This record gives sequence, structure tokens and C-alpha cells, in this order.
Amino acid sequence: MKNPGYSNIGNLAVVNPHQIHGTVKPTAPENLGPRVLELSSILQTTLDIETQIHSFGKEIQRYLEIDGLVYELPQNDNPVSYGREASHRATYDLRLEDRPLGTIRVYREIPFADKEISSLENLLCALVYPLRNALSYRHAVELASLDPLTGVHNRMAMQNALTREVDLAHRQTLPLSVLVIDIDHFKSFNDNYGHAFGDDVLTAVAQTIAHTVRRSDLLFRFGGEEFVVLASHTNEDGAMLLAERIRENVDAMHTVRGRTAEVTVSIGAACLQADEMPDAFLERADKALYSAKKNGRNRCMLG
Ligand code: GH3
Ligand code: MG
Ligand code: MG
Repeated sequence: MKNPGYSNIGNLAVVNPHQIHGTVKPTAPENLGPRVLELSSILQTTLDIETQIHSFGKEIQRYLEIDGLVYELPQNDNPVSYGREASHRATYDLRLEDRPLGTIRVYREIPFADKEISSLENLLCALVYPLRNALSYRHAVELASLDPLTGVHNRMAMQNALTREVDLAHRQTLPLSVLVIDIDHFKSFNDNYGHAFGDDVLTAVAQTIAHTVRRSDLLFRFGGEEFVVLASHTNEDGAMLLAERIRENVDAMHTVRGRTAEVTVSIGAACLQADEMPDAFLERADKALYSAKKNGRNRCMLG
């Protein structure tokens, strides 16, 4: 890495354990080995990526002055930042044994000297293994929160999201709505065409709902043939509009996997009331769903 200038593009492939132990080039001004190890063990105390990046940004200040850094995950998640951006930056694609671990940009007002770049590269070695573990953990958690059949989030994820969103809506006094969606006479698809076709219907309905809701809305498979949508910043009118759009779009599906299938859903909606607890909120939407069923199905009711 010569003459950093305004931007450095580097490729850090930490596959050689010697680098991890900080065996620096003989020309290097200082031996960072023990520091790299110390930093690595600090970073290994957490599997939370944000904590890890913040800790890295804070700890490297002991050896190298920086203004901030931005870490971009390999998937399209939100980047994690520490400190602030500045005019000069050093950019590294992090990889381990060909596995991409994202990109990190280190910012500074003052240009980096060659010696500082080599320090930075050594310090980055301390980040790579803990970061790989944190990314694997994150991936495992994400997989555990998905429903394998439909690919939408599962009930466990819903419980967490419901608690979090209700809490946020109460604190910020923002409207929050929930929809409970149940496929009408779903059992007949299983009975008439087999369980595998029932699974296809479930998947098709999940996709239709996913295409109908906003990006900020959260969709979950609540159980068998029931789905839940959590719509933040959405009042009663908005909830009923959304419910009606979902109902219409499912009603407009006339085939599933090439086979004629008239699928409809009933939907119960509720908008969060002041001081309402998550379970009571969901229960209200569920009761509204029950009324929608009793009143003839293929309809939306507000709780
Ligand atoms: P309603 O209009 O009152 O909601 O009637 P329904 O037939 O949709 O409701 P019911 O609760 O009687 O039946 C739901 C059925 O969903 C029963 C169960 O076997 C089936 N089911 C639950 N999970 C799955 C699944 O993952 N795949 C398939 N194919 N069927 C499932
Ligand atoms: Mg049901
Ligand atoms: Mg049903």
C-alpha cells in the first residue's frame, strides 16, 4: 500500500496464520504482534457485529489516530459506522479463505502515512476471525427465524418483532397496526389435492402477501395457514386499506403451480391502543379475524 492519497483500495486476504500472529515485515517500524492478539481477544468477546466494529474503532485509536470507519456487510444489510467520515480513507475488502466478509473503510482528515497503513493492515488481521464468527452467528440466527416452507419469518421472529414494535410505537407515540390473515377452507386443498399442493398454496399466498406489503412492513407465518403482518406508522384506515389490498390480490390468484385454485383469505386488523400490551393487541386482531370468518370469509374486519 503505497502513497494513500485520497483513497486506498486494498485486498486483505488473511489466510496465512503468520499474519494473524502479527509477523510483520522486517521493514515495519514496530511489531504489532502482541497488540493484534490482544485486540483479537477483545473482539472475540462478542458475536454482535455492531459491538465488534465499535470496539475495533475504539481500540485501534490506541495505536492509530482515525476519525471513523464504516463497515459494509457482505449481504445488503445496513452498514455499521463508528465515528465520522473524513476526507481520506483506506478501503479493504475483507476475506477469509475466499469467503467475503464485507468491506471496511477507515476515515481520517490527515492522509495516512505508509507506516500507518501497515499498522492498520495488522490491526485488521485482528478483526477478521472474530468478524467471521459474528457473521456466521448472524446467519444462523437469521436461518432460525425463517419458515423453511414459505421463506418468510416464523412465529419466534414474530414474538420478538411484536414486542419490539409495540414498545417502539408506545415510546414514540406512533401508530402501529397488525393483521392476522387466515386462508379460507385451506383444509380442502389438502383434502382434495394432497398435502404437497397445500404447501404450494401456502407458498403462493405468502408470496402474494409479501408483494403487496411495503418494504417496511414485516410478514410472518404465524402457524399452519395463518400469517401476520406488522405495519409500522399505520393507523386504522391504513391497516384496512392494506388488508383489503391483500385480500383482493389473493382473490385474484386463480392458479397455483398451473392448477386452478380459487384461494381466498379472511383478515382481522387492529391498530395499537395507548398502553396496550403486545398479546392483547394481537388478540384483538385475532378476534376480528374470527368475526370475518363468521361473517362469510373472504373479508377484512377491524378489531
Ligand atoms: P377456515 O376457513 O375456517 O380457516 O378453514 P380451514 O380449513 O382453513 O382451517 P382449519 O383450521 O380447519 O384447517 C387448517 C389446515 O391447515 C389443517 C392442517 O392440516 C393444515 N396445515 C397446517 N400446516 C400445514 C402445512 O404446513 N402444510 C399443509 N399442506 N397443510 C397445513
Ligand atoms: Mg387457521
Ligand atoms: Mg383457514
